[in-house]
Amino acid sequence: MALPAALSYSSARTYLECPLRWKFLYVDDLKEAPKGYFSFGRTVHSVLEELVRPLVVPTARRIGGGALQKTLDEWPGRGPPTAPGRLLEAEELLGLYERSWVSEGYNSPEEEARYKSLGREILVAYREDLLKSPPYPVAVEEHLEAKWEGIPIHGYIDRIDRTPGGSLEIVDYKTSRELSREDALDSDQLSLYQVLVERNYAEPVDRLTLYHLRSLTPHSAPRRDAESLNDVHNRFGRAYDGIRSSAYEPTPGRHCSRCEFRSLCPEFRLVPAGEQDRLLDLVDRFHRLRLEEERVDRELRAAAEALHEESERLGVHRIPGSDRVAIRRREELWHYREGTVAEILAEHGLEGRVRADDDEAVRRLAQDRKTDPALRARLASAGGRQVRWYWTLEEPSSRG
Ligand code: SF4
Repeated sequence: MALPAALSYSSARTYLECPLRWKFLYVDDLKEAPKGYFSFGRTVHSVLEELVRPLVVPTARRIGGGALQKTLDEWPGRGPPTAPGRLLEAEELLGLYERSWVSEGYNSPEEEARYKSLGREILVAYREDLLKSPPYPVAVEEHLEAKWEGIPIHGYIDRIDRTPGGSLEIVDYKTSRELSREDALDSDQLSLYQVLVERNYAEPVDRLTLYHLRSLTPHSAPRRDAESLNDVHNRFGRAYDGIRSSAYEPTPGRHCSRCEFRSLCPEFRLVPAGEQDRLLDLVDRFHRLRLEEERVDRELRAAAEALHEESERLGVHRIPGSDRVAIRRREELWHYREGTVAEILAEHGLEGRVRADDDEAVRRLAQDRKTDPALRARLASAGGRQVRWYWTLEEPSSRG
């Protein structure tokens, strides 16, 4: 199968939510029904692009090999742009909005009219806001591509602004009802955009903003640090590796309620009518056995608990029955703080040889007499021991 040229945020998110749905969309090229709120978002975004474009003063780009583009840019890095263009008048803006309107996917003419009027309000208010405090954009609706440690990525960025300090701010418009600063702090989309911008522009990004259009409110977060970018890279890596190996398992969950491919999905395929009665009996039997299993499990745990209490009271570990002897066994379980262990292993040059999240492997290393005593002591202080008692049954002849 031909791999997608590059992974976008929405493609990766779709894959991570359900690989099979990703396949339906990106491999089988199945289309979903148009939705009014997507049409609305597309229309508003395209008009905003045209509204802000006259303010754009480009800045230096990277042109490969780390070199910087020689631009015509006279932009000094501080203060207002030298030659901003003219903003559309309010009537021109609304005329453009009318011409750009995408009518697809609305549930009724009333719903479409409601959205249309909301869009008008947003655009007029946004234009007023622009006049009061104009941003200093270096790009609008910019398509950027990059290689992110082996993963080809791309994205369309609504706006890239120059900040008063001379670095860059990424602005992503949102037409959704609700938005908060937490959304900006948690957004993988903004993390991806930071990587795209920093791989393509000379200046660093220092602010990431989700712009709530309904309230004209920017929700900003600081640039992501290396650790949080690494987490996002790992998630993108999982999606990229899955796509490369054609792993398309359905992953059912709450998201299935809005999936339009349920009729094609094995998770939701219906049993043929002729098979239903026979399979109904089988499922009922399985259900009865499962209930029985749960009941037996509860009784087993209660009996083990009662034996444990008697064993503690009498100070014995073996209690004879008619046919078997019940024997109490002890098991130690070690748990380690993964982050601390990872640091210790790295300092001792053992990362890659022992996994920090494998408690049993760490315990073996910590208790191995051949291990450096200093390392053993550090690992021991990063872990805690839990003792578990359990019961086995043996033949009476095996009594000690
Ligand atoms: S119905 Fe659920 S599991 Fe099936 S493809 Fe859609 S999202 Fe995936």
